[in-house]
Amino acid sequence: MSVEIRYGDEASPKKRDLWGAMKRGWLGRCPHCGEGRLYKSFLKPVHSCECCGEEMHHQRADDLPPYLVIFITGHVIVAAFMIFEELVILNTWQHLAIWAPMTIVMALALMQPVKGAVIGMQWANYMHGFGGEADEVADLDRYE
Ligand SMILES: [Zn+2]
Repeated sequence: MSVEIRYGDEASPKKRDLWGAMKRGWLGRCPHCGEGRLYKSFLKPVHSCECCGEEMHHQRADDLPPYLVIFITGHVIVAAFMIFEELVILNTWQHLAIWAPMTIVMALALMQPVKGAVIGMQWANYMHGFGGEADEVADLDRYE
């Protein structure tokens, strides 16, 4: 069952700032208030915001952040490699010594901000429990 959110009438929830929430999440802050920390470890979100109390435990970023990180990193690194290869002549080992570490560093550096932005997007769109109602997990029970 999908829940349609209509904005504007008195019974509907207030429209949330999508880009502001994604920016606050990108910076590792609570997408609601922007003050509290979003993570308690590298990629583990806090249970709830220490400042405003917004619950984060029901976020469902899942595989979207790694997918986006691979997509972004691949396009940047391959483009940089192709430009660099046109300008400088290096052998395969030299290229490997440059591009493999850069790929790993860029992927690790982007993972937390991208996951934060995804959580901010979910919060702004009232997804997965951010609207106050419990997320549907009935289908997950059969896998336990
Ligand atoms: Zn907060």
